[in-house]
Amino acid sequence: MVASGSPSSPTPPKEIKLATAAPIRIERLRVVLRGAVQGVGFRPTVYRLAQMLQLAGWVRNSNAGLEIEVEGDAERLEDFLRKLDEERPRAAVVTTSEISRMAVAGDTAFKILSSEEDASKTAAVLPDLAMCPECLQELFNPADRRFGYAFTNCTRCGPRYTIISDIPYDRPKTTMRGFVLCPDCRREYEAPNDRRFHAQPNACPACGPRVWLVPGNAEGAGAIAQAAEALARGEILALKGLGGFQLLVDARNSEAVTGLRQRKHREEKPFALLMPTLECIRQYCMVSAAEEELLSAQAAPIVLLRPKEGCDLAPEVAKSSPYLGVMLPYSPLHHLLMREYPFPIVATSGNRAEEPIAIDNEEARERLRDIADVFLLHDRPIARPCDDSVARVSGGRPQLLRRARGYAPLPVVVPYDLPRVLAVGGHLKNTVAIAVDRQVFLSQHIGDLDALESRQAFERAIEDLCRLYCFKPEVVACDLHPDYASTQWALASGLPVVQVQHHNAHVAACAAENGVVTDYLGVAWDGAGYGVDGTIWGGEFFLASKHGFERIAHLRQFRLPGGEAAIRDCSRSAASLIWETRGAEGAGRVVSPGIRAMLERGIHSPLTSSVGRLFDAVAYLSGVADRNRFEGQAAMCLERAIGGIRSTESYEIASQSGIGDWASLIEALQSDVKAGVSAGLIAAKFHNALANWILAVAQTTDVCNVVLSGGVFQNTYLAERTTMLLETHSFRAFTHHQVPANDGGISLGQAVLAGKFER
Ligand SMILES: [Zn+2]
Ligand SMILES: [Zn+2]
Ligand SMILES: [Zn+2]
Repeated sequence: MVASGSPSSPTPPKEIKLATAAPIRIERLRVVLRGAVQGVGFRPTVYRLAQMLQLAGWVRNSNAGLEIEVEGDAERLEDFLRKLDEERPRAAVVTTSEISRMAVAGDTAFKILSSEEDASKTAAVLPDLAMCPECLQELFNPADRRFGYAFTNCTRCGPRYTIISDIPYDRPKTTMRGFVLCPDCRREYEAPNDRRFHAQPNACPACGPRVWLVPGNAEGAGAIAQAAEALARGEILALKGLGGFQLLVDARNSEAVTGLRQRKHREEKPFALLMPTLECIRQYCMVSAAEEELLSAQAAPIVLLRPKEGCDLAPEVAKSSPYLGVMLPYSPLHHLLMREYPFPIVATSGNRAEEPIAIDNEEARERLRDIADVFLLHDRPIARPCDDSVARVSGGRPQLLRRARGYAPLPVVVPYDLPRVLAVGGHLKNTVAIAVDRQVFLSQHIGDLDALESRQAFERAIEDLCRLYCFKPEVVACDLHPDYASTQWALASGLPVVQVQHHNAHVAACAAENGVVTDYLGVAWDGAGYGVDGTIWGGEFFLASKHGFERIAHLRQFRLPGGEAAIRDCSRSAASLIWETRGAEGAGRVVSPGIRAMLERGIHSPLTSSVGRLFDAVAYLSGVADRNRFEGQAAMCLERAIGGIRSTESYEIASQSGIGDWASLIEALQSDVKAGVSAGLIAAKFHNALANWILAVAQTTDVCNVVLSGGVFQNTYLAERTTMLLETHSFRAFTHHQVPANDGGISLGQAVLAGKFER
């Protein structure tokens, strides 16, 4: 990097005269960069490069992204393009770049022009970014004017998506509009060579937002110190973060963690943790190099890690999960709090059960008043809720399980043009998406659409995404399930609707994000999705070709006695499988009279081909788990039971005429249980059987690409084992990385498939 301008001068020149030496061949280029290119310090970088290479022209933010016209010696222009790529800001994500030659205009200087507005708003809004090293250094430097200031940021870091109310991204169109820049901040904001040049949330203690504690009247550092004292006393702290409120409690204090569970009505679902440093995380968890990188990324997600034995965390933090979800502090406020209280802290969304996260001071004090003891508040408004993202490393690569802060609303780029589709997602872990040309912009994780508040949040997210991108949908895509709130919204929208089968959407999402367009085998395994025959699907294989999807195989169906009740109570799926294989006589103690009556008469017992429910049955029969208190709990326990076992032993799923039969698997498993085989080995043999079955089905086709999607593939053991098997047999296996394998990825698949039907 070459420094330019005169950093000591208070107002660096905005224009620079070209040198008089006559270049050999003058040309003019136009460069349009799309993607997340605004608000990351791109214009100053371009300006600096143009100055350094003595090129003329201009740069500006436009609704398309970043536009540059640059003129000068042809060789230097080549240099410019190369350096533009090499020296692009760390936070920028360039999805496409177009370069075209223009007539020479005779410019003599290089300028930064003000933003241009037009009708097609497709410049990506940037996600919120964790603090950069420079800002962090200033935060803890007593000589700096931002020492201890909770809203320090620059063009390389800080809030974006959660403060933007419209684009192009300029301060009057953010929630910072109410704060008038002081002379010092304005100077930084206007200086092209400053790290804070056009940093829209730029602020300092003299002019920016402030933080305070309730109850009491402590402000700033005092408020943060008192918040830390509350944590030390075992109290529950509600903290207004970047994308909403979080509830914090000391993770080593059993009583405090239990209190939070009770008040939040959250029985057993694991809590995420905030830890002050990587060193601290290493004390509690096993961390690979790839996991360290993910933890320290600017998205700073919650990363699922394997806990170490015998640590001092309260067992109530994550009782039944093989993983601990851990993140590092990402905002200055989090850094300051963790400096005062450098211990593991539970950090969970500020809501009750599955409701949306609270974002407003008054709303939070009302909704969280029976949960939190103290509130750490601030006066920078949050434009939209955005939870912490959840990710893990699988097969050496990051994989998102919940896509929100740090990732939303970055687009997923697909390898074909799409019409203007609005996709409204599924019912659980809902996200919505809009398609513009080759980009699909996904909303942040919205949540389950059971509660009224969640459905309102869903409607706001649609409105919000459409407004941000001036988007008018031509068609709405939704699920086939008639009872999903999202389906009902779509059907009532008055727009043309394309209903997309749930599992088709799963595999289409995975294929799209991996750029797979040729014929492929799609494997969609999850808990439940509405099948085209009206039964519950969840163990499906599709052959995807240009003619559409052909369901070539699925799990043998069985009944779910009691329907929804069978999702919570694993013994019901187990009873059903035994009933099917051994009949009433053989079922013995597993089948209670009530369940027996349901199965006999087939009442309240819908048919399913769900692999998720097969996991429940196996978890129950092997004595690993008997209930799902949160989605996927029993399957998680079964995965955890494998522990370090590396066995190739396997049960068998007989694959005949497209039906995967679990009968012999259940028989063999019960014999193993009787013979005292360990639950870990039983679990390994079960997982291996599933992977073998996928390979067997793949070998009946003539495709070479296999796409794995659906919540079941959040199981790392299964995903890795299947990938390894397929690849040793010359298939290419694809799993999710940019969007979740669970229903959080459904909206992407819907957008892609509805787009195809429309074309
Ligand atoms: Zn910064
Ligand atoms: Zn200021
Ligand atoms: Zn699903």
